[in-house]
Amino acid sequence: MTDGPSADQWAAAVAAVRSTGPDDEIQLICHVNPDGDALGSMLGFGLGLRRLGFTRVRATFPGDFEVPTPYQRLPGVDLLVPEPDAFAGPRLVLVFDVASESRLGALAGRLAAAPASVVLDHHASNTGFGGVRLVDPHAAATSVVAEGLLSRLGVPLDAEIAECLYVALATDTGSFKFDMTTVSVHELAARLIATGLRPGEISRRTFDSKPFGAMKLTGEVIGRAVLEPAAAGGRGMVWTYATLADLERHGQPPYVLDTLIDPVRSVAEADVSVVVKQTAAGEWSVSLRSKGAVDVSGVAVSQGGGGHRLAAGFTGYGEPADVVDTVRRLLDSYLIR
Ligand code: 5GP
Ligand code: MN
Repeated sequence: MTDGPSADQWAAAVAAVRSTGPDDEIQLICHVNPDGDALGSMLGFGLGLRRLGFTRVRATFPGDFEVPTPYQRLPGVDLLVPEPDAFAGPRLVLVFDVASESRLGALAGRLAAAPASVVLDHHASNTGFGGVRLVDPHAAATSVVAEGLLSRLGVPLDAEIAECLYVALATDTGSFKFDMTTVSVHELAARLIATGLRPGEISRRTFDSKPFGAMKLTGEVIGRAVLEPAAAGGRGMVWTYATLADLERHGQPPYVLDTLIDPVRSVAEADVSVVVKQTAAGEWSVSLRSKGAVDVSGVAVSQGGGGHRLAAGFTGYGEPADVVDTVRRLLDSYLIR
């Protein structure tokens, strides 16, 4: 794993923002199907730009303009525009939580054409695109990097910025449960909470609230999970899948499946967990998790995806069983120990 941003990279990022005029167009972009870290780090930073006096700031992400319900009340959500309303030729582009250009869809062109750009990310698999690169694979969330840049720009944390960054941090640490939950993560969380946040209320709204139909859908999909004790060199794999028909039957949007990996990966008999989620005919978004036996980012990258060592994803094709066959075959090549 490489180190975080160098002093020169931080200075270049500060210069990129400071050399932008107050009325220049600034476009923020996060990854397709945005999660709490993508939206929280992007909107928190966008609010910071507003505090600095920038008047023309827009935030967007590629694809369907579907903001998961829990994030629709994030401060700064008014910065969000659908992809077609993004600035056509912004002076400055900032990219959040994006491991590879493919996760930017058609917006990758906006990044390439911008006179100045900054990439804020924390994926070990980051492919190295964009102008100034603030990529810290040791950061628990992209919001850690965003806060680092805000503080270097002299933007004080207020409750609105803090709520965005807190939701991002809580999302990517699994509510402060994952290995990345270091002393500095808790120190940042403390500074964020000190602005007046109410963590209980934010957690309830963000993680512990879902429609009845989403619960029924989750129950059905968990009910068809398969345990394969011999997979991953005997460390075990558990997998399940969900189709577009499942979503339709329960009247749910695709993003309700994003957290389905959490109950699946709690299975004690399996190191590796896999959720295969249909996105189109014969096309599946695959979530991979490991408890330490497998570098699932290696598996994902080999299939054109990416992520972190113990949490990664890619796009698979065919039937769910075909996708799982591919994963099962690759697991043995990426055993860590
Ligand atoms: P999730 O399973 O929660 O969707 O994603 C887990 C991790 O893998 C996240 O860090 C996410 O950014 C990354 N990831 C998921 N799917 C893809 C993909 O198709 N391409 C890339 N590059 N990364 C992915
Ligand atoms: Mn992230």
